[in-house]
Amino acid sequence: VGARLKAVGEVGACNADAADSRILVFVRLRPMSKKEREAGSRSCVKIVSKKDVYLTEFASESDYLRLKRVRGRHFWFDASFPDSTTQAEVYGATTSDLVEGVLQGRNGTVFCYGATGAGKTYTMLGTMESPGVMVLAIKDLFSKVRQRSHDGNHSIQLSSLEVYNDTVRDLLSPGRPLLLREDKQVMKLLQQGNQNRTTEPTRVNETSSRSHATLQVIVEYRSMEGGSIVTRVGKLSLIDLAGSERALATDQRTQRSIEGANINRSLLALSSCINSLVEGKKHIPFRNSKLTQLLKDSLGGSCNTIMIANISPSNLSFGETQTILHWADRAKKIKTKALTTANEEVLKVPDSETDQTKLVLELQKE
Ligand code: ADP
Ligand code: MG
Repeated sequence: VGARLKAVGEVGACNADAADSRILVFVRLRPMSKKEREAGSRSCVKIVSKKDVYLTEFASESDYLRLKRVRGRHFWFDASFPDSTTQAEVYGATTSDLVEGVLQGRNGTVFCYGATGAGKTYTMLGTMESPGVMVLAIKDLFSKVRQRSHDGNHSIQLSSLEVYNDTVRDLLSPGRPLLLREDKQVMKLLQQGNQNRTTEPTRVNETSSRSHATLQVIVEYRSMEGGSIVTRVGKLSLIDLAGSERALATDQRTQRSIEGANINRSLLALSSCINSLVEGKKHIPFRNSKLTQLLKDSLGGSCNTIMIANISPSNLSFGETQTILHWADRAKKIKTKALTTANEEVLKVPDSETDQTKLVLELQKE
């Protein structure tokens, strides 16, 4: 499928009727945690309306009274999700359209960005009781494929990669994508993959992940349409980035600070790519880190791209939240060339070939 995808991708890219579009940016506010409440924190984020997020800084009631006004800033996004938003609502608003596109041979990417503990993994993977975008996307794919099974043959493959210390590691099935036959076991599979992620205790959250994790779902579809064999390949990439916070100032020789430097380096590389893309520069420094190499297709290429910025409501995270909203605001300005046509290949069956069904079966065996 890899080679096929490449070949078909090239066909698609040549014929692409590429329309200029931009990255869609969403913000998800998580509920205040018990720990934050116990630390006496206040909410510094207000979802004013569907698109309007208001961030305000006041350390204490007395500060607020002394300043006599709230120093704050409004940010506008494609949508902002208050802490009451369900997983299904987030999926529906951000990813379900991309899943439909993938079935038609278009690529799509969703990535979560935010500080450790802000809700990235909850949004992407979720829990057994409240599965997240990755699980809901695969379930949705399967139910859509089942509805369409009469018009062709679909195959769904998964691969899950981790970028840690600027090296790439396979979390599911080293060396090859996993052919998924049904969606029942997918949560278990993804949770196992997530457990394989490199984790280290940090200041904010004991089990926070120090790595970037990506799940790629490749859907290949084949059918006979008016004497031709049509092949479409769509790729959905779902990305759970490492925490965006600054590395702890620790001894330069410790493992933690090396990791911190690497996480910072890849997120720094990401921000310089975002800057270059926003400024319309010819050269975008994707090669500066593994993470940006991985995101190259999504940020600069022909892809429908969604960014979800995860934030905590607590004023204890004010600085991080401000940074995240700043980058999310900038990401809105990134133009991508969204494919309006699919990665599609049409093979004309020769007239002499009478038994077309036989040929399709042959191809399916490949
Ligand atoms: P991150 O991956 O960004 O470090 P997590 O997704 O692990 O953060 O979230 C930290 C904690 O907050 C987890 O215990 C998670 O279950 C909880 N959490 C995050 N977002 C939500 C939400 N929208 N609703 C309920 N709990 C949430
Ligand atoms: Mg996480």
